[in-house]
Amino acid sequence: MSKTVGVERHSFQAEVQQVLDLMIHSLYSNKEIFLRELISNASDACDKLRFEALSDDSLYAGDGELRIEIEVDEDARTLTVRDNGIGMTRDEVIDNIGTIARSGTRKFLQALSGDQQQDARLIGQFGVGFYSAFIVADNVRLLSRRAGTPPSDGVLWESSGTGEYELQPVERERHGTEVTLHLKPELDEFLQDWRLKSLISQYSDHIGFPIRMPKVADDDDQAGGELEWQDVNRASALWTLAKSEISDEDYRGFYQQFAHDLKPPLDWSHNKVEGTQSYTTLLYIPERAPLDLMLNREERDGLKLYVKRVFIMDAAEQLLPHYLRFVRGVVDSDDLPLNVSREILQENALVKQIRASITKRVLSLLEKMAEKRPGQFAQFWQQFGAVLKEGIVEDPSNREKLAGLLRFATTADEGAGQSVSLADYIERMPDTQDTIYYVTADNATAASHSPHLEVFRKHGVEVLLLSDRVDDWMMGYFTDYQGTPLQSVAKGDIDLSGIGGDNADVNDDQPAADTLAEKIQAALGERVNQVRASRRLTESAACLVLGKGDMALHMQRLLKQAGHELPAHRPDLEINVRHPLVQRLNTSTDQTAIRNWSLLLYEQAVLAEGGQLDDPAGFVQRLNRLMLSLQDEEE
Ligand code: ADP
Repeated sequence: MSKTVGVERHSFQAEVQQVLDLMIHSLYSNKEIFLRELISNASDACDKLRFEALSDDSLYAGDGELRIEIEVDEDARTLTVRDNGIGMTRDEVIDNIGTIARSGTRKFLQALSGDQQQDARLIGQFGVGFYSAFIVADNVRLLSRRAGTPPSDGVLWESSGTGEYELQPVERERHGTEVTLHLKPELDEFLQDWRLKSLISQYSDHIGFPIRMPKVADDDDQAGGELEWQDVNRASALWTLAKSEISDEDYRGFYQQFAHDLKPPLDWSHNKVEGTQSYTTLLYIPERAPLDLMLNREERDGLKLYVKRVFIMDAAEQLLPHYLRFVRGVVDSDDLPLNVSREILQENALVKQIRASITKRVLSLLEKMAEKRPGQFAQFWQQFGAVLKEGIVEDPSNREKLAGLLRFATTADEGAGQSVSLADYIERMPDTQDTIYYVTADNATAASHSPHLEVFRKHGVEVLLLSDRVDDWMMGYFTDYQGTPLQSVAKGDIDLSGIGGDNADVNDDQPAADTLAEKIQAALGERVNQVRASRRLTESAACLVLGKGDMALHMQRLLKQAGHELPAHRPDLEINVRHPLVQRLNTSTDQTAIRNWSLLLYEQAVLAEGGQLDDPAGFVQRLNRLMLSLQDEEE
């Protein structure tokens, strides 16, 4: 280790430095997290060695008692975390520690806004990992050797976290990794035995490997003797214990350690299943969504598969439906083979059973939360509701259960956000109403201002306001809830007889309305499918209406922008025959005026829908001409 030949100096990628600076700056008030991050890495390394040794136990090289050691040197002001796990080769050190190859970091960087405060908040939503060492250390040395390589293949990495790191080959007798932190001034607390022990018992009591610290020397101990080690955690994988032996604190600490989450979980469910197959699940609902939840994040993360206590792989993809990708936890099977591969998992009937049962457990956990702790459920919904909605489409077998969990904003209580369930809505429906009405839009304001709501507002009929991206897609698959049909107020014909409206009332002069509609239709040509008198409008002059099965216009726009070819669904234009503008148009005989006014009606309807005009400059000219002509009349 005294070798200095072969020292190489490398620069951190600029982005790594950026992350480092930000982390040090923003996580300083949570500085103790470095310890659980390093212990997590050490424990993962032990898991990996145990897994590889299943097929080649010479990898243990006589050191098969996997463990983590923590040692302090008060004089040197250093703290060391050491494992005899898998270790790293030189290339792995460069890849894993010196670059941003890790996708999490890359996504994090893409999400950075440049606004210090906001970015500082973001960082807490990422697993910060190894770099968290620099929150407390002004120098970090990492010494490692990959199990199965010769002692001469050791590698020493060292950095003060400012711009550069050094790398050199070293002789290293043992495999595994050791990380030594030189603590910043004033952080003597992390040299204290009691402080370290209390952190370990809070977060790392139940990782599956023993964590040891040297026994504090008694006066009559001989100095210079062999170190005597003492286990400081319980080292019993938490999920293997009986529920009665586990406190809420244990559950929370385990989650935070394993999910790298600064926040404790919202809720959890721990179950042992015994029967045709035996397995244990420990499932957590996080408090906050990771930043990349809505993106296509690495889906294997989140759920760890163990077989008979041996970590096998991250297998969320196989064990969870996509719409539950926010769930974190552990599945430990007694029946799967230890050498199970990802491909086998995909096909395996036992795995399918486990997956179905995990899905049930999570849904009942959420149902219970919704029923017993609505406040907490609201918090859940705010974070994960949009993801859960995907399940309505993806998982028909659980559709009713999922539908019961949905929460909506509504015209009946516009300040309350998404808080109304379908059951609430149905309970409030007057006897005469037999349909659940909803509208989908780009955003909450557009939904609540939609012209399609006018007649419903007039008659005091509640309408659900949907503005998540998945909503229109979801509702396309969702035609009724416990027998009550759902209908978009912006699509198809609307039957108002049940809600106090009169289907006949717009039609008192049907022939006149039809003639007018024809006039407008002739002016608009191919732009619309059909023009007709509206039953929906009471204030606005016109609105666009889609066919029952058509995709909402805002979704069509979104997909078009993303380059998708869509079948052309031309909307209908409904006009409000009582509106003064429409009435004026009706009395006009000037063909140019009729054309211009018709176009204006259509363009208004497009704009009210949040759409873009094909000819905005033409619209402005038409509007100005209209305003001037009105002024002429006033004079
Ligand atoms: P994460 O653990 O979230 O992947 P880290 O920054 O903590 O991120 O670590 C990056 C990678 O470095 C790990 O995925 C692992 O491959 C490697 N690594 C870190 N610590 C160790 C260790 N003690 N033993 C072996 N590999 C390690």
